[in-house]
Amino acid sequence: MKLGLWLLIAGVAFLWFNHAKKQRLKHGRRSNGQPAQADDIARDPAADAERILACAHCGLHVPASDALVDASGAVFCCAAHRQLHSQA
Ligand SMILES: [Zn+2]
Repeated sequence: MKLGLWLLIAGVAFLWFNHAKKQRLKHGRRSNGQPAQADDIARDPAADAERILACAHCGLHVPASDALVDASGAVFCCAAHRQLHSQA
């Protein structure tokens, strides 16, 4: 009888936890204001991080969105370094 009571409590807690999780997804918001998606729970936070690339001339690390790329595919931190590298 005692075991049945504990199983009932565990079952209710499990169902309540699942329900609360679904409600959070349904009504939750991401930090950018977009509605939460089902894959948010399994999302890898590193996937949102921007790639950092090293300048081929000076080695400075720059975000991919700020990097300049020449015809050969080499990455540079600025236009001056791209020009210096092409002259070398
Ligand atoms: Zn550079």
